[in-house]
Amino acid sequence: MVCFRQSMRSLQDQTTGASKRASPKSIPKCAALITAKWSNIQQSGHYGHLHTWSVVGRHPVLTVLYSRVIPRWSRPLAEQISDPGTISDAEWAIRTDLAACYRLFVKYGWTDLIFTHLSARVPGTSDQYLINPYGLLFEEVTASSLLKVSFAGDVITGDYPYNDAGHAIHSAILQARPDVNAVLHSHTRAGMTVSTMQCGLLPLTQQANEVMANVAYHAYDIAVGAEEECERLGSDIADKHAMIMHNHGLLTCAGTIAEAFYLMYTLENACKVQVDALASGQVLHYTKPSAQAALSAYGKVNPEKQSRSSRKAWPAMLRMLDANDPSYKN
Ligand SMILES: [Zn+2]
Repeated sequence: MVCFRQSMRSLQDQTTGASKRASPKSIPKCAALITAKWSNIQQSGHYGHLHTWSVVGRHPVLTVLYSRVIPRWSRPLAEQISDPGTISDAEWAIRTDLAACYRLFVKYGWTDLIFTHLSARVPGTSDQYLINPYGLLFEEVTASSLLKVSFAGDVITGDYPYNDAGHAIHSAILQARPDVNAVLHSHTRAGMTVSTMQCGLLPLTQQANEVMANVAYHAYDIAVGAEEECERLGSDIADKHAMIMHNHGLLTCAGTIAEAFYLMYTLENACKVQVDALASGQVLHYTKPSAQAALSAYGKVNPEKQSRSSRKAWPAMLRMLDANDPSYKN
């Protein structure tokens, strides 16, 4: 591994100069080096070092290279970070569902490079939650690689950093809402677009009506301090389970990861249709108040009980992941 790292640094020094960023010209050389050294890297077991170095190091281009060059099936990546043997069955079940949710974000195109974050409360604790290691692609997140973080901001398990904004948002919602165990946050195109609209979410579709009575709004203000922002997030979400964060994105939260995912799916679809419908320039049908009331009642989230829709949909989502790539369970 040392030999590999020295070789790589030497190669980068030759190819990057003073800019400290790998040039496109260096990619074929780096790719050849990783490929040639791959059997040594496998034997050394130092994938985590390679990954940490390539992702959070000074050469982000290597992240792309790494994900392209090294075969998917041979990338244990961050299983190195946590020891599954030390994790309770209850926590492992939550970790598996949360890792599955990261993979579903990839599947549905809701990712934003390595940014945004999904979290879950650690079962049996009052001040700890799980979140993604900052730097991993969502498709690389596994049950064992998730960080365990305290509300105070200490990493309890895992040797990656977390995203500071992620910690602020997720710890704020989880602290404000004891009934909530999962929080999802996205920066999708449709979600961000609707977040810029003064009209908010409109009653244009079944899916919009299902969720709109449960949507809170949060004004954008990056100038405020983290503490004030956290307080405002907690008060703005109030007793709702979804939030449109102005000029920023979407957030859903619920008692289970399955429910939070279903809410995000519903809200995201509603936003997509709203954007397309408004862009069409046509005169639009809005749903009648009676239909709005019925759909809103159907979509109401019961903190005590997972909705039928999410109960039915979640196992199907897991079957889909298992059929294609079950590595989220690692
Ligand atoms: Zn964000």
